[in-house]
Amino acid sequence: MDRYRIPPDTTVDLAAFDPGDTAGLEEKEAKERVAALNRRLEGLQELLYAEGKHRVLVVLQATDTGGKDGVIRHVFDGVNPQGVKVASFGRPTEKALAHDYLWRVHPHTPGSGEMVIFNRSHYEDVLVVRVHGLVPEGVWSRRYAQINAWERLLAEEGTTILKFFLHISPEEQAERLAARRDDPAKRWKFSRGDLEERGRWSAYRAAYEEVLSRTSTPWAPWYVVPADRKWFRNLVVATTLVDALESLHMAYPDPGEDLTAVLIPPAG
Ligand code: ADP
Repeated sequence: MDRYRIPPDTTVDLAAFDPGDTAGLEEKEAKERVAALNRRLEGLQELLYAEGKHRVLVVLQATDTGGKDGVIRHVFDGVNPQGVKVASFGRPTEKALAHDYLWRVHPHTPGSGEMVIFNRSHYEDVLVVRVHGLVPEGVWSRRYAQINAWERLLAEEGTTILKFFLHISPEEQAERLAARRDDPAKRWKFSRGDLEERGRWSAYRAAYEEVLSRTSTPWAPWYVVPADRKWFRNLVVATTLVDALESLHMAYPDPGEDLTAVLIPPAG
């Protein structure tokens, strides 16, 4: 899965990444693997909480209909809901806009033993904000370095950061938008705003390329996830996350005494 990781200081051209890539895998096998990874993730999350030492931050970014919600549903299937928090970042409030752009984000970062998923994130401040010209270029162009420095602070304080860009093709997006239009069970997700944003496809692509080129760091790497096939997208995210958690070599805390001889008293 390492081939989806962007090395630091790489100039990323998304044309070189095939959104339909499945690494030669079949859907059935991928789904079986994801189910096995779900069980491992469940155990790793419990260990993370029990050990209370590490903090884990998963950043999910995608083009509209890219599948952020699907990743949250499928990759974390079976994981104790008490152990994972999702923080979603929509349009900032007046109050948030009166502060720096990281102000609303920082309180949602994981504490010790916690895992947090960012459904959209501070990257919107160099994506939608850049594409729509919501602040001058002189302002957003400084943010890449600011974001790197902030993520470095989080990493140095014990946070493992994994960032996923769910990469879909314009053809796949057209199909998903049509499904939202036509399927009564999906219609609640249909938004005319998404159609307008589709008209800015190449501007978003350029903005994502700059994000990937400038903010994939040793302490907070980006992964470009081929996301046209939902089952492969889930497999890439699940594998990367489980590998990262296993590399922390976590252990249940030692109670510091031999508990085997402790008697359980009768209930009073
Ligand atoms: P999603 O599309 O993630 O399911 P929503 O439909 O609530 O969720 O969309 C959230 C919206 O908030 C998106 O249009 C996104 O571009 C916007 N948004 C997020 N962060 C910012 C920001 N910092 N500035 C302006 N708009 C933002």
